[in-house]
Amino acid sequence: MARLYYSFNNFLKEKFGERVHKLSLDGGFSCPNLDGTFSHAGCFFCNNRAFSRFTRQNIPLYQQIKLSMEYARRRFKANKFIAYFQAFTSTYADVSVLKERYQIIKEFPEIVGLAVSTRPDCIDDKKLGLLEEFTDRYMVWLEYGLQSANNRSLQAMNRNHTYEDFLKAVEDAENRNIYLAAHIILGLPFETKEDMLDTARKISHLPLSGIKFHCLHIVEGSVWADAFKKKKMRLLNQSEYIDIVVSFLELVPSYWVVLRLISDASPQYLMAPTWINNKQEVLRSIEHELRRRNSWQGKLWS
Ligand code: SF4
Repeated sequence: MARLYYSFNNFLKEKFGERVHKLSLDGGFSCPNLDGTFSHAGCFFCNNRAFSRFTRQNIPLYQQIKLSMEYARRRFKANKFIAYFQAFTSTYADVSVLKERYQIIKEFPEIVGLAVSTRPDCIDDKKLGLLEEFTDRYMVWLEYGLQSANNRSLQAMNRNHTYEDFLKAVEDAENRNIYLAAHIILGLPFETKEDMLDTARKISHLPLSGIKFHCLHIVEGSVWADAFKKKKMRLLNQSEYIDIVVSFLELVPSYWVVLRLISDASPQYLMAPTWINNKQEVLRSIEHELRRRNSWQGKLWS
């Protein structure tokens, strides 16, 4: 039987022969959707503090890496690492600033990879050229926040970019030895299951290497926190999420690496749904559902 899905851990073990841990970092960047360039409100689901423990703590990058490594060594017995510039829009600066921030990884021989998360409208040839320079020594991942391939949905969550921006960003990054991934949110309140699977069908033939799933959750400090408090939003329950994520997996290629099947959030900020933080239970249920359907990632992809 084919593997159920291609997990990031398995991919990294194949590449490096051992466990590799991703270090989540705040490179000190801002975001055009928060600084007033496009908007001050940000994406309506967003509060960066909820998912990165170093976000805006003013801890120097060198220190962030040291602290995260120590923790991962203790907790996961990891000896190799990927530096993940996760917070805000991690390509939103002049290329000289990006270079200075990213190249801190050269001070740590244990770091084998560089991952950068950004908006699809915050990348250009120069920035891609910079990332490409790192591919000589490092595995480089570029993660684009797409969330949905439906432009009305993108507008409704105040993303201020379009699906076409994403297509261009993918095209620009192709053939550069950079692993490209898309972030997708399942459970947007104005999307049906069919809308979400339509995103799967649209992106499934793009030259991506990976995908990262998020279940829409509400965090304190986000615009949607207010709508949720006023009971104006319905969120997915666990079985609905499992049904949709499994159906999505069936539609995308089996060679795509699944960077994450479910996102968690800091309990300090998470309002709902709280089941997302029972990560192991959710992962077991997803595997169970794939087996129950006698299915796997890519089963319906052609
Ligand atoms: S989700 Fe990303 S693009 Fe949207 S406001 Fe937050 S940092 Fe900016």
